[in-house]
Amino acid sequence: PMGHEFTSLVLALLQVGGHPSKTAPEVIEQIRALDGDYSFETYFSLSCQNCPDVVQALNLMAVLNPNIKHVAIDGALFQDEVEARQIMSVPSIYLNGELFTQGRMSEEEILAKLDTGSSARDAEKLKAKDAFDVLVVGGGPAGAAAAIYAARKGIRTGVAAERFGGQVLDTMAIENFISVKETEGPKLARALEEHVREYEVDIMNLQRASQLIPAGEDGLHRVQFENGGELK
Ligand SMILES: Cc1cc2nc3c(=O)[nH]c(=O)nc-3n(C[C@H](O)[C@H](O)[C@H](O)COP(=O)(O)OP(=O)(O)OC[C@H]3O[C@@H](n4cnc5c(N)ncnc54)[C@H](O)[C@@H]3O)c2cc1C
Repeated sequence: PMGHEFTSLVLALLQVGGHPSKTAPEVIEQIRALDGDYSFETYFSLSCQNCPDVVQALNLMAVLNPNIKHVAIDGALFQDEVEARQIMSVPSIYLNGELFTQGRMSEEEILAKLDTGSSARDAEKLKAKDAFDVLVVGGGPAGAAAAIYAARKGIRTGVAAERFGGQVLDTMAIENFISVKETEGPKLARALEEHVREYEVDIMNLQRASQLIPAGEDGLHRVQFENGGELK
């Protein structure tokens, strides 16, 4: 039995065979551009609901960049390793033999942690953007809906979110979304992102806003971000 990781295996086979990933093109570009050697090991369990996202993110990174390797390890079958490394929770991710992180992580979060210059570059990118007509701060269901409604009116719309998907990413079973009998949190979060991307919305993920500065003489409100960036 492969539990939740059966999907990861099938997806990895498809991607090795050249099947395109649904990951955003700029993230794929950033993965391809990573230099240095990265050897990841992920310890998972078959009942862990947060593990497939991490396993699939690292598998994709390994497919896209020849300098990245990934081994996914079922902890139940390698108890001696689990004990030697004193692993208490899954997923536990090791990079080049050292503990890298524990818990659910998206490709973008992994990239941000690997690429230490990325936050300064992000700040510069934010500063260089033209003013938005509507800037939504937050990318949960509410933020996604606000962005879609604004963009449908043809106005320049952006979403800046610390974690696009919001709390929906933290839950598996969703059974009370009227007309959808049952779905899963990460699936709903992906659908939200796909829907927002149907429109011309600039999604700026992993950006934590720190301050709102009300409009001055130029009539533009400003939002400052923890990485030093700013949007108008
Ligand atoms: C474990 C769990 C199970 C749940 N189960 C269900 C369920 O079965 N059914 C159901 O209907 N609801 C469920 N919920 C609740 C549901 O997830 C929330 O009601 C819903 O996500 C709220 O949407 P939202 O867009 O208002 O806020 P959130 O989903 O909280 O989104 C907030 C957004 O704002 C961002 N943000 C916050 N601060 C900043 C900042 N300073 N700068 C930039 N971005 C920021 C966050 O990163 C996120 O993108 C569950 C929640 C949890 C945690």
